[in-house]
Amino acid sequence: MGRPVVRHSSRKIPKREQKPPTTKSDSPGTIPPYHSFTHLEAESLRKDLLAWYDRCKRDLPWRRLASSESDPDRRAYSVWVSEVMLQQTQVSTVIDYYNKWMKTWPTIQDLAKASLEEVNEKWSGLGYYSRGRRLHEGAGKVVLELEGQIPRTAEDLQRLLPGVGRYTAGAIASISYGQVTGVVDGNVIRVLSRLRCIGADFTTPAVSDALWSLANCLVDPLRPGDFNQAMMELGATVCTPKKALCSDCPLQNQCRAYRRVSCVMVT
Ligand code: SF4
Repeated sequence: MGRPVVRHSSRKIPKREQKPPTTKSDSPGTIPPYHSFTHLEAESLRKDLLAWYDRCKRDLPWRRLASSESDPDRRAYSVWVSEVMLQQTQVSTVIDYYNKWMKTWPTIQDLAKASLEEVNEKWSGLGYYSRGRRLHEGAGKVVLELEGQIPRTAEDLQRLLPGVGRYTAGAIASISYGQVTGVVDGNVIRVLSRLRCIGADFTTPAVSDALWSLANCLVDPLRPGDFNQAMMELGATVCTPKKALCSDCPLQNQCRAYRRVSCVMVT
């Protein structure tokens, strides 16, 4: 029997940080049981996913910084820069830009002192210059209005920093501060949709809210940042858009899409 191939619908997956939906509640009660996870399933998924992540994660400079930096503001700044750069750009391209950026401006205070021209020059080649401008603007705001302290929760990050939407706020808060909050980007949408066979249009507010609820219910309470990165890593390297590598997937046993495809191939 050949390996089942799980393909995703041709609908365009949004990049990170598109318009966030307005969520009234993250209660899993709004999600039909078939598309949800039981307590035991969620526990097992966290364990399998994190074990895989510990074994297989890519060694990336922002991950190294986030895990070795003891100062929370420096940690949050290093994650914030990486998340903004990654919004529209491939990891392989970002690495070099990220390393140069952090060498030039290792702290948010350093970035706040830079001129916009210097920022644009450093951003040159990455595209979407408004991202660099917003980062610079945010650094100025943190230094001038927030006494140099980057907000400590996803809610405050989104509320207080220019250009920081729901995804980026959740990523910074979970990775830098250990806040137990999920994230949803294109990779997470694809993984969750396949795991629970969600075929509905995720661009609608109801489905988007349901995906955020699922992500918030699933996130590991002890390692939220690693869990979120693991979900995105799985989507980027294994549960890929065109041809998922299901035989390498740590979540195969829990995947409804995989089970369906396997059943079709057997009958
Ligand atoms: S979650 Fe895993 S098993 Fe399911 S489609 Fe993606 S790669 Fe395949």
